[in-house]
Amino acid sequence: MSETSVEVLVIGGGVIGSSLAYHIARQGRTVLVVEQAEGATAPAASWASAGGVRRQGRHPAEAMLASEAIARWPTLEAELEADMHYRQGGNLLVAETEAEAEQLASFVHEQQANGFTDVTLLTAAEVRNLVPEIAMQVTAASYSPIDGQADPIRTTRAFAAAAQRHGAAYWNATAALALHVQGRRVVGVQTARGLVLAEQVVLAAGAWSNQLTDTLGIHLPMHLKAFQMLRSSSATGQTLRPVVSAVNRLLSLKQLPDGAFLLGGGWLGEPTADHRSYQLKQQAIDGNWAAACAIYPPVAQQQIARAWCGLEAESIDEIPFVGPLSGWEGLFLAVGFSGHGFAIAPAIGHNLAELLIGNPTPELAGLSPARIATLHRH
Ligand SMILES: Cc1cc2nc3c(=O)[nH]c(=O)nc-3n(C[C@H](O)[C@H](O)[C@H](O)COP(=O)(O)OP(=O)(O)OC[C@H]3O[C@@H](n4cnc5c(N)ncnc54)[C@H](O)[C@@H]3O)c2cc1C
Repeated sequence: MSETSVEVLVIGGGVIGSSLAYHIARQGRTVLVVEQAEGATAPAASWASAGGVRRQGRHPAEAMLASEAIARWPTLEAELEADMHYRQGGNLLVAETEAEAEQLASFVHEQQANGFTDVTLLTAAEVRNLVPEIAMQVTAASYSPIDGQADPIRTTRAFAAAAQRHGAAYWNATAALALHVQGRRVVGVQTARGLVLAEQVVLAAGAWSNQLTDTLGIHLPMHLKAFQMLRSSSATGQTLRPVVSAVNRLLSLKQLPDGAFLLGGGWLGEPTADHRSYQLKQQAIDGNWAAACAIYPPVAQQQIARAWCGLEAESIDEIPFVGPLSGWEGLFLAVGFSGHGFAIAPAIGHNLAELLIGNPTPELAGLSPARIATLHRH
């Protein structure tokens, strides 16, 4: 077995690891991505993802990252030289009662306070103007026109290809087996192809990240979740432009370029005991479908064509851990994306690559793993 040496080793070639590798390679640094399968294959999150590109409703700790990412998405296909099925169709959060409409009015104030100045409150008539076939009971909506959607598999592969064009190396079908340490410093990774020495190691292994930190005796405060998605048969015609969700239902609904509806919103399956797969739950499938039909009746004219889950680590405060892991020199985390890492992946890659060269940006401050010590106390 050979021994390799790089400046940065990234564990995991999903959308986060690949965005990061792209940004590191563009800095002219040597970077190797070690990926146990291939990026964006089942049941990884970047394979399963709904691909929503949403700033509206973001946690304040992600606000600056979301703004940076949203500004970048419209030109990302040209930058990466790939068709990622990106569409800036907006994001619509609907209310179904007067009480929910009042909730949305304060929500819109909060969005504006976070700097999301495009977000406005729409009347029922304005919602119907935007989405004529929206359910009759919709009373109001919060609307962000600059949000949208993209294809997560195409996006992951586009970042990986662009990273390689800029000189990044990818070892697919190669598992990282253990972090290699000297004293309190991580100096490399034992992989299925041998030991790789690295000045910096970034853990971006999604749902499986704790298997690597466990080799240091550290279990990050994250839970494994199997987020469910449904895809319908293809409707003729593009009737739905924005991504639609609802104040009081678990729902995220969008229409794909081929006319199929894509349904998600937080319904859960069950990860298998070996964390390699998942089991669907009929109740969750029925619930997700019913929520979509109730909000956008044209969905009811279709059938469910496919159901699947993606495995993702959800941190206990539901925002990711991005940055150095206290107590371990040389080790950085980009984990715990909690069901909403896709939209901000371009900004995570950029800001983390800057941090690695000693240029920390305020965008990542709220996601620092330093908060883990506090979280453990709750
Ligand atoms: C069903 C679903 C819907 C979602 N919808 C949205 C959405 O609409 N909008 C949004 O912004 N976000 C969404 N998300 C979240 C988003 O997709 C994820 O946050 C994002 O894809 C995480 O990317 P990742 O690279 O961290 O993880 P992953 O894509 O899971 O990548 C981790 C990679 O690490 C590899 N790996 C693991 N262990 C090892 C090892 N030991 N050695 C080598 N490689 C290893 C895996 O094979 C995998 O490829 C959704 C997630 C799911 C599951």
